[in-house]
Amino acid sequence: MAANLIADAMAKEWAGATEWGCNTRHLDIRSPSLPHLLFLSFLSPLSTPFAFIPDDLEVGYVPLSFGGAFPGLFLFTSPSRLVRPVKNVADPSGGRSEIELIGPFEQAFMEIKCLDGGDGGRRIPSFPATHEEIHPTAMLSVVASLTPWSDHNQSPRNMYQCQMAKQTMGFSSQALQFRADNKLFHLQTPQSPIVRTVAYDKYALDEFPTGTNAIVAVLAYSGYDMEDAMILNKSSVERGLCHGHIYETHTVDLTNNSRGKIDKVHEFGRIDKASGALPTNQRKKGPDPKQTIDIDGLPYVGQVMYPDMPIYSIIEKSKSEASVRKLKGSETAVVDYVAIEGTYAKPHSTIAKPHLQKARYRLRRPRNPIIGDKFSSRHGQKGVCSQLWPDIDMPFSGVTGMRPDLIINPHAFPSRMTIGMLLESLAAKGGCLKGSFVDATPFASSTSQTNAESQSKSGTPIEEFGPVLASYGFNYHGTEVLYSGVLGTELTCEIFIGPVYYQRLRHMVSDKFQVRSTGPINPVTRQPLKGRKTGGGIRFGEMERDALLAHGASYLLHDRLHTCSDYHVAHVCSLCRSLISTSSVQHKRKNGTQPIPGLNLGGSIASKIICHSCKSSKGIETVAMPYVFRYLAVELAAMNINLSLQVREGA
Ligand SMILES: [Zn+2]
Repeated sequence: MAANLIADAMAKEWAGATEWGCNTRHLDIRSPSLPHLLFLSFLSPLSTPFAFIPDDLEVGYVPLSFGGAFPGLFLFTSPSRLVRPVKNVADPSGGRSEIELIGPFEQAFMEIKCLDGGDGGRRIPSFPATHEEIHPTAMLSVVASLTPWSDHNQSPRNMYQCQMAKQTMGFSSQALQFRADNKLFHLQTPQSPIVRTVAYDKYALDEFPTGTNAIVAVLAYSGYDMEDAMILNKSSVERGLCHGHIYETHTVDLTNNSRGKIDKVHEFGRIDKASGALPTNQRKKGPDPKQTIDIDGLPYVGQVMYPDMPIYSIIEKSKSEASVRKLKGSETAVVDYVAIEGTYAKPHSTIAKPHLQKARYRLRRPRNPIIGDKFSSRHGQKGVCSQLWPDIDMPFSGVTGMRPDLIINPHAFPSRMTIGMLLESLAAKGGCLKGSFVDATPFASSTSQTNAESQSKSGTPIEEFGPVLASYGFNYHGTEVLYSGVLGTELTCEIFIGPVYYQRLRHMVSDKFQVRSTGPINPVTRQPLKGRKTGGGIRFGEMERDALLAHGASYLLHDRLHTCSDYHVAHVCSLCRSLISTSSVQHKRKNGTQPIPGLNLGGSIASKIICHSCKSSKGIETVAMPYVFRYLAVELAAMNINLSLQVREGA
């Protein structure tokens, strides 16, 4: 039910509208009726005698004002409205629960104070707060509430983290073996974060973790950690750090292959050497389909597939001919799961379809960290792996001998001000030493003032964990003396090192890298194709051209735009100045020799360029030009425009 009641002060009338089908209804305030009284009783929901008024009734009273919002009394009770819980401090024991659900309309007219004990910025003390927030983190979304100590970070970094948390390669499903997602990223060795918020446990995210507790050293070590690059410990990666897989499910449907013709039915199946001919497109080359495909035409589960290996085979029933489909792409995959779809049953069954025509197979592609893969902490600090550094060359702690899993550059901190990440490292170190998880819920200090039991806790995380570290013999501020792994000498300053929860992001270099020397071209323009899938090139556009010109690199420009693109040697007739009237003709030598069929004597037949317009080969010149220029000349000729070229020597 949604009803709103609008006061028209000039007409001394109430106007009510409901969703029950009637239009605006006018209720005369001078002669109150029963529905009128009912609406008036909604005015004070806290002291209403009617018990059936729902708890989540939203009441918004907009007083009459000039230039303000449309005045009226607005009541909302419809389902699926946006409501949020707050604590009622004005009337905590009015026969109802302390928690009240409020809506967005009434919220703007309410006095809700924060938990820090302040007055919430109210300037007029005569309007004391009637409600109080349950916890300051109520303003955070599900994703935002997972960032530890987000109240210590610069706010854009928290927003970056909210973006990146959605790109993590996590543990997205507990029922992987039953899933048929087109593409699913899966982290093989996830961990539960040592430093976590209350919301992390509340949303049970240990069931779906997104990262690993990595030992992070903040250190400029080899130059390979410049500009958000990060060095990964090679041995850590080999021990399983951030190992992951991509699951791809492919569906093959052969039902439409026959296009309604009964004699052209296709079904899965393999024809063996003994029982019949080899699959037609497998006679000449390639591995035997028997190695990877079972008798039903589908791949073996658990089979390791290399590029171009046969993955399934199809039989055309009428011809008893099999054809094999190969694994696409350049990556190795493992057949994870094969499923038959539909009601295919054994032969001679009348109920089910007689042919196996629809199947699904899931491939598993290993994606362990390599150079170029993307990682991020939970504080908007993303980075790309620049080296898998050998363990023996990593810096090590003088006291514990521990080597970091990951090295990031200290320049990542001053401008970004992600203090929460430093606190996380410190607290995780303390948590590790104590053997306990650490609560990193933001705005904890503002709630502790009202919460008597947490009064004993120190204010800031460093005041809490500094003494813990010191009691275990570590530096109060989380730094350690490190030694160079290469030289064995002590590093000249103490290094901040500790565990930080790192997420692996799904942007992987093996999905994105693009390289081409030569490759497919567009047959019309003879220029390289674009696109990674087709093995094409990367567009070198006008802005890139301008950049090279500005650098004076015209030879490089010529190389990119001409030599490596649509380089073409054209023949131009200097007599008629035409590009398109020339062509090569084969002619016999005048010495009268006849070519012997099947025997190439070499040079007995010569080709010669002539101009068909001038019937002569006298004025033919060779000119190097982009092939699209010839295309332009042809297009213009089609529009009856003659392109006339002036050919000069050494121009
Ligand atoms: Zn000519």
